[in-house]
Amino acid sequence: MNIVILGPMGCGKSTQARLLSAVLGIPAISTGDIFRSLEHGNSLMARRIRDKIMRGLLVTDEDTFAVLSVEFRKPSYQKGVILDGFPRNIYQAQHSPIRFDYAVQLSVSDKISIERLLLRRREDDTPEIVHKRLEIYHRETEPILKMYEVAGILKVINGEQPVPKIFSDIKVALGLTVA
Ligand code: ADP
Repeated sequence: MNIVILGPMGCGKSTQARLLSAVLGIPAISTGDIFRSLEHGNSLMARRIRDKIMRGLLVTDEDTFAVLSVEFRKPSYQKGVILDGFPRNIYQAQHSPIRFDYAVQLSVSDKISIERLLLRRREDDTPEIVHKRLEIYHRETEPILKMYEVAGILKVINGEQPVPKIFSDIKVALGLTVA
């Protein structure tokens, strides 16, 4: 089973991806984590990635696909995958090497998203970068939701609830448990 988790920064995507991964026994991939692990290298690609992250912009589609095509070749993803952070724009969604069974949208307001991020203290969580990321989320990532809605695989979950409640709502939406 392939699942993508979508939502603005601070919506709890990676937390829910980890919980789902444990229950389903399939690995979770966070493209943000992958890029953060690569950005400290000295290669041209590492420098490009760092530059984008520190400006709150998306890594280029070319670099994203180059990194993911290596990642997806790993045998651990044969049974399925839970993706957090990809796809991030319409181009990536249209060219995704993975077909999703479900797209889970964790919906949170901009206000909550910003509040949670400013508590997190990651290097790219300064007010300026956070606002840029949010703007890009609305402009580039949100249109993907419509695609998945039309495809009939979108599950919208209220992300402004406690972590266990969000998780149980996801399990109900995915038919993993009854309400
Ligand atoms: P958040 O959800 O808090 O914005 P992520 O960890 O998902 O954080 O992403 C951090 C950064 O990594 C993004 O701002 C972006 O620069 C880059 N990134 C992650 N996934 C992608 C992707 N699929 N395409 C392009 N850039 C990405």
